[in-house]
Amino acid sequence: MNRVRFAPSPTGFLHIGGARTYIFNWLFAQATGGQVVLRIDDTDTGRNTDESLRSILDGLRWLDLPWDERHFQSERRRSHVEAAVSLLAAGAAYRDFTPESDGPATPTGGNAWLCNTGMRELDATESDRRASAGEPFVVRFRVPRENPKGVAFKDLVYRKQFRKYADIEDFALLRSNGQPTYHLASTVDDAELRITHVIRGQDHLTNTFKHILLFDALGCGRPQFAHLPLLLGPDGSKLSKRRHGSVVSVTNYRDQGFLPQGFVNYLSLLGWSPKNNREVLGIAELVSAFRIGNVLRTNAVVQVAERPGDIPVDPKAVWLNGRHLRSMPVDDLLPFVERALRDMGWWSDELGTTRRDWFRDAVGALRSRLNLVSEFGVRCRAYFRDEFGYEAKAIKNLDKAGVRRSLHLLADRIEAVPVFSEKSVEHEVRSLAEELGMKAGLLINGSRAALTGQTVGPSAFKVFTLVGKSRSVNRLRAV
Ligand code: GLU
Repeated sequence: MNRVRFAPSPTGFLHIGGARTYIFNWLFAQATGGQVVLRIDDTDTGRNTDESLRSILDGLRWLDLPWDERHFQSERRRSHVEAAVSLLAAGAAYRDFTPESDGPATPTGGNAWLCNTGMRELDATESDRRASAGEPFVVRFRVPRENPKGVAFKDLVYRKQFRKYADIEDFALLRSNGQPTYHLASTVDDAELRITHVIRGQDHLTNTFKHILLFDALGCGRPQFAHLPLLLGPDGSKLSKRRHGSVVSVTNYRDQGFLPQGFVNYLSLLGWSPKNNREVLGIAELVSAFRIGNVLRTNAVVQVAERPGDIPVDPKAVWLNGRHLRSMPVDDLLPFVERALRDMGWWSDELGTTRRDWFRDAVGALRSRLNLVSEFGVRCRAYFRDEFGYEAKAIKNLDKAGVRRSLHLLADRIEAVPVFSEKSVEHEVRSLAEELGMKAGLLINGSRAALTGQTVGPSAFKVFTLVGKSRSVNRLRAV
C-alpha cells in the first residue's frame, strides 16, 4: 500500500507552498488507495513553538483533507540515534572531532569543503578513545570518494537525476550535542514509517541525493521521490511572507472567507493541471484526475491582486472560490456563512432554529453574486441587520422623479396585502406603476434601493420576502 507523508517543521505558519505539498500528497494517496502520514518535524527545539504547531494544525484541519496517522519526530529520537550508531559501527559514518564551527559547510575552493582533514581517516580505536575521553564530535556520513560515480534516481516529476559523489560533502548525522540532523531523522523516519513515496518541494531535490545514500547504507529500500515545482510571486522570486505578504499564509485565506474546497482547487492548479485543462474541480474530481506524473516542471506563479480594495490574493483564487460557493449544496454552505456572521457579531440562535428556513433561503438567493463567504457579512448587511447604509448609486435611484412618493404609496399597498409573497408583491408593484403611469423598472429599482441600500442583489420581489413584510414596509416609508 502506498504511504506518503507531509513533514512540516513547527517553526512558522503554514505556507501555501506547504499546503500545496500536503494536498498533492493527499490526492496521490486517495487516488491510489494509500495512506497519509502527518509527521511533525519538531527536532529543532530551539526554533519550535507551540503557536506554530497550532497554526499549522489549524490550517491543515481547515483544508478538511484528513490524515491517517500523526507522528512527532522528537518522539522517535532513539531510532535516529540507533541508526547513527549502526552506521558508525559499519564504517558508513565516522566521528569528526573538528570543532563544529570549522565544519565542512563553507566551500573554500578545491575539495576542502567535502570533509575535514584527517577526520575521515581517523582509525576506529583512536576515534573511540577520543570519544570516551569526552571530546565533542559530530557524526558524519562517509560519502564514497574512491568511486568516480554518483547517486542516480528517477524522480516522478523531474525524471532522471544524478549527482556526482564529488559534489556531495560528508554531511552530518548527529550534531555535537547529540541531536540528529534533518537528513538522518527524516530518512530513518521515512524508512521506519514505511513511506513509499516522498512528495515534497523542489527545494529539497539536492537533499534527496543524501537521503538516498542513507537509505542504501541503512539497508532499507528507497522510496520513490516526486519533487514539486516552486511557487513564485508575481515578481518571479520565490514566494515569501517578507516579499509577498499575507498571500502566503493559509489561515489568511480562511479568515478572508475562502471555502476549503475552493482553496484546495486553487492550490491544486499550482503546478498541475488535469488532462482536459478543466479548472473547476471538486475534491472527488481532483482525486480522480490527479496523476503525480502530470505535475509540471515549471514553477507556478501566484498572482496578487493589485486593485485597491481587493483582498490581497490571486484573483483566480477568488474566482474559483466563487464557482464553488455558488454551486455547492446550500446546506453545506450554511456552516461557513454562520461562522462569517458570528465573526461580524450578526449571528443569532434563531437562524439555526426557528428561522433556519429563512436563513437557508437567504443564503441560496444571496450567493449568486458572491465569491467569498465573508461577503455575506460585508455585502449583505441589509438582510441581517436593521441599520444599513445606502450606496451612492442606490440614492440616485431613489432621487429619480416621483420615486420616493410612489414608494410611500407602495408601502401602504404592501401593508394591506393578505398574502405576502413574491407574487403578490410583484402584482402590487406592477399595478401601482401602471396606475401612476410610471415605468415599473423605476419602482423596482427604487424598492431594492430602499430595502437594501444597494442596486444589485436577488430579484427585487425576492428581496421583499427576504427582508420580510413589516421591515419592507418600514424601509419603504423611511425613504
Ligand atoms: N521538515 C522539513 C521541511 O519542512 C521536511 C522536508 C521533507 O519533506 O523532507 O522542510
